[in-house]
Amino acid sequence: MARALVLGAGFGGIAAAVALRDQLDRSDEVILVDRRDEFVMGTRKTWHLIGASPLAEGARPLSRLAGRGIRVIRGEVRALELGSRAVMVDDDRFEADAVVIALGAMHEPSAVPGLVEYAWSAWSLEDLPAATQAIQDFPGGRVVIGIFGSPYTCPPAPFELALLLRDHFVARGIDAQVSVFGPAPIVLPVLGAAGCALLDGRLDERGVPYLAGRQARAVTDGAVRFAESEQIGFDLLLAVPPHRAPAVLVESGLAKPGSWVGVDRATLETGHPGIYAIGDCTGIPLANGLPLPKAGLFAEREGRAVASRIAATFRGEEPHTTFDGTGACFVEMGGGEASTIRGDFYADPPAIELTMPSQAQREEKVRFETERLQRWFGG
Ligand SMILES: Cc1cc2nc3c(=O)[nH]c(=O)nc-3n(C[C@H](O)[C@H](O)[C@H](O)COP(=O)(O)OP(=O)(O)OC[C@H]3O[C@@H](n4cnc5c(N)ncnc54)[C@H](O)[C@@H]3O)c2cc1C
Repeated sequence: MARALVLGAGFGGIAAAVALRDQLDRSDEVILVDRRDEFVMGTRKTWHLIGASPLAEGARPLSRLAGRGIRVIRGEVRALELGSRAVMVDDDRFEADAVVIALGAMHEPSAVPGLVEYAWSAWSLEDLPAATQAIQDFPGGRVVIGIFGSPYTCPPAPFELALLLRDHFVARGIDAQVSVFGPAPIVLPVLGAAGCALLDGRLDERGVPYLAGRQARAVTDGAVRFAESEQIGFDLLLAVPPHRAPAVLVESGLAKPGSWVGVDRATLETGHPGIYAIGDCTGIPLANGLPLPKAGLFAEREGRAVASRIAATFRGEEPHTTFDGTGACFVEMGGGEASTIRGDFYADPPAIELTMPSQAQREEKVRFETERLQRWFGG
């Protein structure tokens, strides 16, 4: 009997665990560990914030995965021993033949003075109810969406949120001026300047400015301060907080402080035999020097590739499946429409496009979610 241990039951971890269970011998064990007892679709956060649809509709108890033969353990991953492929989950030690690290990115709002006190994190489940309430109660004024560091999860989501919020306030007759700031020189650097034209145009048309190249230094009551004494005032500040690799991965030596877990971009191997890392906790440089975007679809495709490799290894075969760097994810553009960012991210240079917005793509995005909930949890 062999054992595969998957750390983190998010997008990548669940995809990996389900694929492992499908491909491994029944006598092999698949263990999935998470500190939470339910999975929540990241895509849902924006819909929840604007009151379109509650988070709960995209949440499922992890215990349902037990019915598929996956052993689900609720606990905190506290330490990793790379040489022995052993993991401490709370006070219990598990050794495994293969380990898949899918712990995502952690948020560090305390890295920016005043951020915790004066902003709501639009990216964290903990702040979501209060942020949603603040949006519902907003009487009008300046709404600022601040990107406080890069890279962050789902690069287009702050712009998607801005466009959806703008629709939300217009529909309610509330006079709100929505803007976005961030450190990047253009809205989506991975698309290149020309590739951003469509999103730039949509933001422009809807009166949502992007203040580029702004690295926030501090937040005070009503203003975000940038370098050189420039600042932007706000009545409501929604933050994309600074993202970091989970502390346990830095402590174990898998990620350097301030960096991400390095992996072979095709095999997702970490360099430690039998230990793979996938999804938002990894840093995969592209040919243009930018990182592979942190997106659920990539975490999922990487998880499936790793599962096939592990299954082949457990059978005593040479693994051949790789992650090819292709993928697509949706960007809501407001007005009930969505575009798709898609292409070959591993090409040199990356060959990526943003498609023309349509209602059909917005419907596809909804299907994207329901299909996964169905595939993983049976509905
Ligand atoms: C607003 C928003 C919109 C998005 N929209 C899209 C979209 O439309 N399409 C798309 O593809 N992606 C989207 N994403 C991105 C997507 O949600 C993430 O990229 C994806 O969830 C990453 O998957 P992951 O498995 O790497 O990490 P996660 O899904 O974050 O999972 C990590 C898991 O590890 C657990 N964990 C962490 N540390 C520990 C520990 N020490 N002990 C125990 N458990 C731990 C966490 O509880 C979590 O369950 C969006 C994200 C946001 C915030």
